[in-house]
Amino acid sequence: MIASRLSGFGISIFTEMSALAVQTGAINLGQGFPDEDGPAAVLEAAQAAIRNGHNQYAPLPGVPALREAISEHQRRFYGLEPEDVQVTMGATEAITAAILGLCEPDDEVLAFDPTYDSYGAAAKMTGARLVPVPLHPPAWTFDPDELRAAITPKTRAILVNSPHNPTGRVLTREELQTIADVTQEHDLIAITDEVYEHLVFDGLEHIPLATLPGMAERTLTISSLGKTFSVTGWKVGWATGPGALVAGVRAAKQFMTFAGATPFQHAGAAALRLADAWYAEFALELQAKRDRLSAGLTAAGLAVSKPQGTYFVNADVGTDAIAFARELPHRAGVVAIPTAVFSTRAQELAPYLRFAFCKRPAVIDRAARQLAAEDLES
Ligand SMILES: *Cc1c(COP(=O)(O)O)cnc(C)c1O
Repeated sequence: MIASRLSGFGISIFTEMSALAVQTGAINLGQGFPDEDGPAAVLEAAQAAIRNGHNQYAPLPGVPALREAISEHQRRFYGLEPEDVQVTMGATEAITAAILGLCEPDDEVLAFDPTYDSYGAAAKMTGARLVPVPLHPPAWTFDPDELRAAITPKTRAILVNSPHNPTGRVLTREELQTIADVTQEHDLIAITDEVYEHLVFDGLEHIPLATLPGMAERTLTISSLGKTFSVTGWKVGWATGPGALVAGVRAAKQFMTFAGATPFQHAGAAALRLADAWYAEFALELQAKRDRLSAGLTAAGLAVSKPQGTYFVNADVGTDAIAFARELPHRAGVVAIPTAVFSTRAQELAPYLRFAFCKRPAVIDRAARQLAAEDLES
């Protein structure tokens, strides 16, 4: 019964693996959501907003206090002065609304592959086509020639997710410059997914594509509260940038959800205004979790590549990771997601398995012990 536009997106591996986690009692390192609450002041701000009567429809562009806080955040961390700000139901709605509102049917949208799963569906709903540009393991870098070769007269936009899920790559200034050059040479628009913007490790820097010369006027920047503040269930996101691009998001969003949850938007304003030190500490905490899980995976005999950001580490399991992932809950009581499910290159990415490390240290340690107790190399 599902319309052909969406029928190719059946039950996802997330559903299958989460069911397996429940069925076997395994530790779920598949889906990327934290198992601890975000900052108490942010939780309290949401409760205060409800108590204080902020319980009716927000304006279409979003609650003014949050829109101001988003602008302030873009200025404080990146020196950006966005022309317009649209609040959305998470980054997911912003991305879907951007493609629906800015692309014509038959347009092509470039996206680095492996690719967050909603991008392909958003393109399909628009009648547009997502064109993959490979990120090659183990360093997860792209070949500028492959990027250029993917461009056709129908190419309208390039979607750039950095820090990147599922690989943990943070694009360098040089890589971003290549993307900026290509975007300008072919008069494309850039849509960026920066939901992990503050979850960057080892002193590396997240550089928004919009900060590169000539890019502010052609980049729609998207982010959300969920990952930064451990409130993935709140679904408060935003798109910022030139008025003409934000207008496309607003035009589509108006008829999808019109507005999101008002109290959480008020709380979002409080969250974004947390001190620089809070942001830095949270990234360090997550970095320690990355190291903890990576050490556990290494001790269990798996080869891990060090992620530069996000919630995720990829291990090379040396065999077909899909079969391996289906057995792992039974063998070691741990659930993870085969990286190839995010990719058009099943063959090249076959041995990679994605583990989420946004979990309490005790949970990570238990998973590590269970993995080490199994002989995973054989
Ligand atoms: C989690 C995630 C999202 C979803 O963000 P929401 O704000 O929850 O909609 C978008 N993009 C990437 C790459 C993600 O990992």
